[in-house]
Amino acid sequence: MSNCEHALPQGEIILLKLGEVVLKGLNRRSFEDKLLSNVRRRLKNCGSFQVYLRQSTIYVEPQGTSCDMEAAWTACRQIFGVAALARAVPCEKSVEAIVATAKVYLKDAFAAARSFKVESRRADKTFRMNSIQISQAVGGELAEAFPAVAVDVHHPDLTVFVEIREKYAYVHTASVPGAGGLPIGMGGRAVSLLSGGIDSPVSSWMMARRGVELEMVHFVSPPYTSQQAQDKVLELARLLTPWCGRLLVHIVPFTEIQEEIRRKCPEEYFTLIMRRSMMRIAEAVARKAGAKALITGESLGQVASQTMMALGVTEDVVSLPVLRPLIGMDKVEIIRLAREIGTFDTSILPYEDCCTVFTPRHPATRPDLEAVRAAEAALDVDALVARALEGEQWIRVKY
Ligand code: ATP
Ligand code: MG
Repeated sequence: MSNCEHALPQGEIILLKLGEVVLKGLNRRSFEDKLLSNVRRRLKNCGSFQVYLRQSTIYVEPQGTSCDMEAAWTACRQIFGVAALARAVPCEKSVEAIVATAKVYLKDAFAAARSFKVESRRADKTFRMNSIQISQAVGGELAEAFPAVAVDVHHPDLTVFVEIREKYAYVHTASVPGAGGLPIGMGGRAVSLLSGGIDSPVSSWMMARRGVELEMVHFVSPPYTSQQAQDKVLELARLLTPWCGRLLVHIVPFTEIQEEIRRKCPEEYFTLIMRRSMMRIAEAVARKAGAKALITGESLGQVASQTMMALGVTEDVVSLPVLRPLIGMDKVEIIRLAREIGTFDTSILPYEDCCTVFTPRHPATRPDLEAVRAAEAALDVDALVARALEGEQWIRVKY
């Protein structure tokens, strides 16, 4: 504990309420530790903040005047593990101080409201008034201070929240939902197959939300795919970094494999054999990265290569778990999420993906695993995978 915590912070702070309250014991502890260190890291660019945990709440307190509170607020809204957040002003633990603080802090809110109420919580049970008494006392004084705003305990325009905590009292307005989920790093590490489409940024985001630290792999097929297509994928990764933290993107050349498949395999299996090759390479990348799962943006029935049988053929070549968070989602739901997390507009930029090169006219939708294996035997798969991995490049996308 540093000295700063003992001094009354001046001005506005941010309160983060922890999510996943069902977590118990050791999990709870590692949740809190991970979340605290993630919050500290993410706020580094916003100035100097004191960040600490008390009673299932993380306090984010600016130190000095050089802190960018708006940037900090935006950053905190994108941190997984935070269930809800509010901006608040701390003050001494007395009705007079609380009223004085609310009058200044909520002046504009009172000017815009026709009615209000006070809602109090007393985390410090030794405080001499209970929450109802606090609300009545503070509400009475505020009603006098703002005679144009009526008290309405049922449907007020404005709710003034008062919390009496260990050291100070806090005045804040309504809290907003946080990003939810689990802190990044708590769910282990996985390699996500990132294309330039709508789906895979969303599937990556969904697993990050479960606390999974990501590394991305992206396959490129020059000259069939362009530099712009690759830049678009890097931009998608960049858009994900406020949620996921900085990302390592593995760029793997895929042209030779695709040309070999076209030359030597039956057309109806082009996509499936290509996807099997992607999975093999992604698994090799994952093993090197110490990752314990692969993530794809597949959704059941969306395209021929995403029928149940096709998915079975695809994952036949890997032993790591393949996580497909979009498997049961409709495209409209996926698009809604893509818009919410901010990747949609980039995803729909019209650049080709290597999946759209050499697409068969009549892809097999009920593929037979043995038949695909037999068709694939025409390739020297191991050598092709090894050469693709030799050409691998890494790009670190910063937050
Ligand atoms: P998306 O919108 O994510 O591109 P999609 O519906 O277009 O998905 P496919 O093109 O069949 O589906 O790809 C299925 C999944 O395979 C993608 O969600 C992604 O995880 C992975 N994938 C496809 N192309 C690539 C690529 N070029 N690099 C890395 N992964 C890819
Ligand atoms: Mg795609």
